[in-house]
Amino acid sequence: MMGSGGMIVLDEDDCMVAVSKFYLEFTVEESCGKCTPCRIGNKRLLEILEKITKGNGTMEDLELLRELAETIKDTSLCGLGQTAPNPILSTLDNFWDEYVAHIVDKRCPAGSCEDLLTYSINDKCIGCTACARVCPVSCIEGKVKEKHVIDTDKCIKCGACYDICKFGAIDRG
Ligand code: SF4
Ligand code: SF4
Ligand code: SF4
Repeated sequence: MMGSGGMIVLDEDDCMVAVSKFYLEFTVEESCGKCTPCRIGNKRLLEILEKITKGNGTMEDLELLRELAETIKDTSLCGLGQTAPNPILSTLDNFWDEYVAHIVDKRCPAGSCEDLLTYSINDKCIGCTACARVCPVSCIEGKVKEKHVIDTDKCIKCGACYDICKFGAIDRG
């Protein structure tokens, strides 16, 4: 349950860890602060999710997430706190692999968590130079009509090359 009276459609481009974070940000904002589990517990849950989406999570964090989420659900005073952890519990049950990919592979399968994205150029590149010209940190090199290459150490993951390439030659994942 992520709300009431509505249906939310998500596809493979939606990261389920980020979706959980989105809903938790809302409840942290809306918490009236009267009871401790909701006021403090949800903030701790949010911190853990932020850690995972930045690629700094551990498998122990997943155990902590579940334990804390269940405690908040059981001990909060009103419906807001009692339902706030639902997106986390639900996605842990149904999209466990996505959490693991963020933690173990440092990869966001949906390609949505910016800190985990990497950009590279594939063999479709025709060497038009458009990406090199828009890159704000000049980390793309290559000659005209030859395949270009991204220096991933310098890349700031702005996505400008991905947006401008008309040949599907930039991989993001
Ligand atoms: S669970 Fe309800 S009463 Fe408790 S802090 Fe959250 S909003 Fe307030
Ligand atoms: S914009 Fe695309 S085709 Fe052009 S050089 Fe860059 S990667 Fe290659
Ligand atoms: S994502 Fe941005 S910084 Fe990275 S290579 Fe592409 S244009 Fe350059």
